[in-house]
Amino acid sequence: MSSGRFLQNGQRIHLVDKKSRQYALTLKAGETFQYSGETIQHDELIGKADGSLVTLSRGKRMLALLPTLGEYVLKMPRGAQVIYPKDLAMITIWADVYPGARLFEAGTGSGALTMALLRAVGPSGAVVSYEAREDFARTAMKNIERYLGPVSTLAVKKKDVYEGIDEGDGTFDRVVLDLPEPWRVVPHALRALRSGGLYLSYVPTVPQVMQTVEALERAAQFGLIETFETLLRTWNIQGRSVRPDHRMVAHSGFITVARKVEPGLWGSRAAEATQDGQEEEREESMKSEDES
Ligand code: SAH
Repeated sequence: MSSGRFLQNGQRIHLVDKKSRQYALTLKAGETFQYSGETIQHDELIGKADGSLVTLSRGKRMLALLPTLGEYVLKMPRGAQVIYPKDLAMITIWADVYPGARLFEAGTGSGALTMALLRAVGPSGAVVSYEAREDFARTAMKNIERYLGPVSTLAVKKKDVYEGIDEGDGTFDRVVLDLPEPWRVVPHALRALRSGGLYLSYVPTVPQVMQTVEALERAAQFGLIETFETLLRTWNIQGRSVRPDHRMVAHSGFITVARKVEPGLWGSRAAEATQDGQEEEREESMKSEDES
């Protein structure tokens, strides 16, 4: 991320109106920003501190901000649908993306998740990201460079991950997937991950979750498999009107996480379900015997 706390020529900034609506623009000396019939010269914005209040040509006031990652991913040019900030937040902690981690990602999409991951692994980490579509890979790289500048910790490769992961067998600390058929990547992820490494995938529908979890179980070397979704409900806090907002994003995707471990502690889940069922039945029948 740019180190400047002042708005600089060439930087991507957001102007925010009274209704908290955000407008993204790239500062270029000599250019003019227009907003509902009013204007402001970029030269007036360049050099201002992050968070400054500025006045447009007919008196409208706006805030000039260096956007947060959560703000700019919603405003950047998209090829593929980006992951919402609420899910980016969950993914980085649930996949335990730590500074220095070596991480594999697919697909790159618009690069929103890639940026969150790059930030989390930091300057000593590494991210390898596969994207099947050349045009998406290009848009993603543009977005990433626009916000993070040139990054030496990222390698984006145009490649179909269903065919395999070429780089470093058993050396990745984390594998993070946002693509339609993550179960097809599970065998490759198993090979790419080190022991103790974490797998995470993000899918929008229940059948996709089922196939993913089945594949993880079938691989037999994944444990602590967990699936969840994240509902973020914002609140309106105005005087006595303190209540949840009327609207929210009701659904985005399901996150499944799993850990590559030495097999043996758990049998196959199908076998365990039967075993558990039998144990429960035994307990039930013992209870009824006690009662009689
Ligand atoms: N997480 C991204 C969005 C990813 S959208 C973001 O936050 O911006 C899913 C992406 O996966 C699409 O760009 C799609 O082209 C890519 N994809 C789908 N199948 C793939 C495959 N087999 N290998 C690599 N990329 C794939």
